[in-house]
Amino acid sequence: MNKVTVADINFRGRKVLLRVDFNVPLDERRHIRADHRIQTALPTIRKILADGGMVIACSHLGRPKGKHVPDLSLRPVADRLSELLGQTVTFAEDCIGPEAANLIGRMQNGDCLLLENLRFHQGETENDPEFARKLSELGDIYVNDAFGTAHREHASTSGATKYFGQAVAGFLMEKELRYLAQIMGRPARPFAAILGGAKISGKIGVVSLLMDQVDTLVISGAMAFTFARAMGHSTGDSLVEEDRVELAREILARAGNSKVNLVFPTDIVATKDIAVDASSRVVPFDAIPDGFKGVDIGPDSVRHFGEALKGFRTVIWNGPMGVCEIPQFASGTVEIARLMGRLTDTGATTVVGGGDSAAAVDRAGLHDVMTHVSTGGGATLKFLEGKSLPGVAALTDQVTVGTV
Ligand code: ADP
Ligand code: MG
Repeated sequence: MNKVTVADINFRGRKVLLRVDFNVPLDERRHIRADHRIQTALPTIRKILADGGMVIACSHLGRPKGKHVPDLSLRPVADRLSELLGQTVTFAEDCIGPEAANLIGRMQNGDCLLLENLRFHQGETENDPEFARKLSELGDIYVNDAFGTAHREHASTSGATKYFGQAVAGFLMEKELRYLAQIMGRPARPFAAILGGAKISGKIGVVSLLMDQVDTLVISGAMAFTFARAMGHSTGDSLVEEDRVELAREILARAGNSKVNLVFPTDIVATKDIAVDASSRVVPFDAIPDGFKGVDIGPDSVRHFGEALKGFRTVIWNGPMGVCEIPQFASGTVEIARLMGRLTDTGATTVVGGGDSAAAVDRAGLHDVMTHVSTGGGATLKFLEGKSLPGVAALTDQVTVGTV
């Protein structure tokens, strides 16, 4: 990576404005349901504190739309961070203004502070220059470890960086970019992508770009049904995006003229209604009966995908195989996670990206069988589409000594 990272800097005595992604899921009682996002920021926070630097962490939480929404306060996160670090984390009730300035003025080397939800101010998502300038005044060096928000051009990810001499990548940011760049740069071959999830419309850019990169492209999840329709199969009541059928037809034609091997499910778990206790049956992918919706891949598809990916050295996966939030329709997704694990064991680089996919892998306890589980949803997809991420573009480039 050609960006300056926290490993390059000694933070002793420096006040670090640290953008993290603490957008954690909360339950009705505002308890943190999963602290994965806090955990992944710890290496960067610990490095700064161990150097004798001061951490002024900032994040968004949910979508308060510029208003102070008490239910979206980051205070519970400050408490959890404090437990994880084993030291007090001071909380500032507003991310800018006199209270924050006061608390920051009193910080000593090795102290950690968390600012209130950035999105309580409209200026954050609007990338308002005045709000960005106020944020920048809180620290004397900037670090971004919020890969999950790097695709957004917001005040804390982009606007504020202009006011700092250096904008530095955190460890998580560095790791995410390293794996994704490795995959899209010089992947060990054969190289495959598995794409699933709900909609072809949100992923068409990724499908299009990956088609030219990979040796095998597995298309599954609900988006497979739009392709099934394009191939003239009966899709029953499955989710088909009627306005994308033509597009699916174009992709099939393009694939026919290229070297890529497109792989579709062979059998599908179908149900009359998507509900926790609904009965289901396994039907052929190309003949889903009327009245039935495809909600998962069947056992033969799992076997078929396993065959298609045998001996593969690089596999990237985005999008669940079925409606994996409902346990009885999660088997296909869990089996594909296990398949990825077996490929990792035989030396393949396996990467999972996407919010729902990563959550499914976590629920199944299969996080550790992957080479890397990306914390980014939108950011990962944008990267895979070959687009620049504003939060990364804003970071300071490494000066290479000795090159002309
Ligand atoms: P990610 O967040 O990993 O990028 P997506 O957001 O694209 O994944 O897709 C996840 C959603 O896709 C899940 O909510 C899941 O229920 C839905 N999905 C997957 N397969 C189907 C299907 N066959 N029918 C309806 N929804 C599906
Ligand atoms: Mg999603």
